[in-house]
Formats: sequence, C-alpha cells, structure tokens
Amino acid sequence: MLRATSDCFSRTVTSTELSEGCQIFLSFLTLITGLIVESVFISLEYFIGNKLFFWGNILTISAYFIALILLKFFRKPFLSSLTSIVALTLALCFHLIKGEIYSLYWFPLIPLLSSMLFDFKLFLFFTYSPIFLVSLIFSFQLFDSSYVLFTKETYKLGLSAFTAYLVFSTVAAVYRFILDRFREELRLLLDKDYLTGVLTRRALFSRLKAVNCESSPYSVIMADIDNFKQINDTFGHQAGDRVLKELGKIFKENLRRKDFVGRYGGEEFLIVLPETEKENAKFVAEKLRKIIENSVFNYPGKRITVSFGVAECREAKCSKCPKEVIELADERLYKAKRAGKNRVVSD
Ligand code: GH3
Ligand code: MG
Ligand code: MG
Repeated sequence: MLRATSDCFSRTVTSTELSEGCQIFLSFLTLITGLIVESVFISLEYFIGNKLFFWGNILTISAYFIALILLKFFRKPFLSSLTSIVALTLALCFHLIKGEIYSLYWFPLIPLLSSMLFDFKLFLFFTYSPIFLVSLIFSFQLFDSSYVLFTKETYKLGLSAFTAYLVFSTVAAVYRFILDRFREELRLLLDKDYLTGVLTRRALFSRLKAVNCESSPYSVIMADIDNFKQINDTFGHQAGDRVLKELGKIFKENLRRKDFVGRYGGEEFLIVLPETEKENAKFVAEKLRKIIENSVFNYPGKRITVSFGVAECREAKCSKCPKEVIELADERLYKAKRAGKNRVVSD
C-alpha cells in the first residue's frame, strides 16, 4: 500500500491516466474511511436499538468489505472502485432515508472520487445518479404523508444542499470534459513523432510491452534508410525531412490495423507485427521495400531505398523479449547493409 501511495503522488504531468497504484490507493482510502464511518453508525444503531437501520448499516459495511477483498486479494482495482462507489452512494442514500439530512453534504464525494477513478462516461453516471436517487427519496414525503423523517426546515436545507450539488456536479463534469481533451492532446504529443507521424520511441516500447510472445508469437522489422547522409548532403536537411515524413506515411498506409510502427532512431524505424510468424513478416518487409523503391518521392537520378532486418520473438528468450528480438532484427539489418543494402535479411 505504501508503494501504491508513493506511486500516486510521484506521477508527473507526463502521465495521461491514473496509474493502477494510484487507483488502488484511492480505493483503499475510500474503503477505510467508509468502514470507519459505517462502524460508528452500526454501534449507534445497536445502542438505539433500531433493527432496520442496524441491518442497513451492516449491509453497506459488507459491500465495503467485498470491495476491500477484491482489492487486496484479487487485485481488481476497477471492480473494487466500482463496488466502493456504489456502496458509498447507497450508504449516503440510506442515511438520507433515515432523515439525516446532513448526509447531503457528503454527496460531492461521489463525483470527486469517481472523477479520479473512472473514465468520463462512468464518472457522469455516478455523478448524476445521486440526483435521481435524492429526488426519489425527497418524493417519499409527497407519496406517503406518514413518512415524517423530514421536517419543513430540513426540507429547505436539503433543497439548498441539493441545488449546490447539482451546480457542483455540473461544474465538475465540464471541468473533467476539458481535462480529458487536454489529456488527449498531451497523449498525442507524447505518442506521435512530430516529423513522421509514427509512434515515438517511448510510445513504441509502451505498446510493445502489451504484446505477449507466449500467447501468440510476434515479429519485428527494423528498417534503416540507405545512404541517408548522402541525401541530406546533396538535397539538404529539409529534403531529408520530407523523405522521413513520406516514409512514415508509407509504413502506416501499408500495415494492418493491429501492426504498429515507431521511430526507433534518427532514420531507423521499428515495425511490430503482432500474431505474425517470421515468414509472413519477411513477406511484409519485402512488400514495403518494393513500395519504397518505386515511390514517387525518389529524386531524379537518386533512388531512395531501405534495408530491413526481420526477427520473430520465439527466436529470443521469452524472458528477454522484446530487447533480444530487437537486437536480432538490428543485427540482421546490418547484415543487409553489408550485403549491399536495399534488401531484407531474416536469418
Ligand atoms: P547506411 O546506408 O549505412 O545506413 O548509411 P547512412 O548514410 O544512412 O548512415 P546512417 O544511418 O549512419 O545515417 C544517419 C543519418 O540520418 C545521419 C543524420 O544526419 C540523418 N538524420 C537523422 N535524423 C534525421 C532527421 O530527423 N532529419 C534529417 N534530415 N536527417 C536525419
Ligand atoms: Mg542509421
Ligand atoms: Mg541509414
């Protein structure tokens, strides 16, 4: 839990999503607070002797316990957060039904916590469902005149607290919407290489982490432009940049949706083909090589060609994937260079 706490507070502006550690920490905080508060109410109801309310409190505390078990033993932070926010909403509604009008002051905790724990849609759901529930509870008095837990004064107080919640939750929703847009822009900025439009090295490795060699073998292709220095020296750096940009476009347009490509270095690209054996990857590399060779961005009298090194993850030790498989593709790329460039080498 200490690690989760420090993880939560050490995140920098570069993080675009709440980390799992941070989610665990916040869920844990909600649960512990909920458990302590509800335990106090259980003791109160026990001494007052109201059986219905006593069992109601037992029910909410059980929901908190389930959420705690989900978090601690099954490491399911999302499910646990879902359970704890549902439990919190129900607990607050339950206290309101009991006539404890001050529980309305605690309702803003729901949008506050859900905005940190969930995506936008779920956040909206949890933010606006209390409005429906509270209206329902307030209408009890209208349908059943024997329900006397609310007095005229508490009704007035409740109405102003309810209006404040409505304003607060709407402001929170607008703020969250703007924040999500900003996050998306930031993510694009961090993940997309400005010049070529392919993934940045950071994004490439983060996506590569999610590809599992054991469940289905994947292949990588390392590509390096041939004699690129010469292109820069002859036509200028801006022309070189244009070539890089065009090349990024060619790679993106000629790969499957599940494949991804990133800028590994200056003029080196790494292509990852999930669920692809080496034979097929070799075929893809050869297809790309031919497209580039015949592309219109070739300057008069100067062909632009690319050399490729192909490797499959099963050729490396699974524990050392993706590092080893990239090294293997890199070695093969240099074999292709030594063998005369503009070719694909896969062994
Ligand atoms: P080889 O066929 O052996 O790969 O020869 P090469 O000339 O391509 O050699 P090398 O791969 O070492 O050259 C890399 C060059 O790429 C050097 C650098 O000036 C150029 N380069 C790297 N990044 C950029 C960039 O963003 N824009 C431009 N225009 N050039 C770049
Ligand atoms: Mg190079
Ligand atoms: Mg090169």
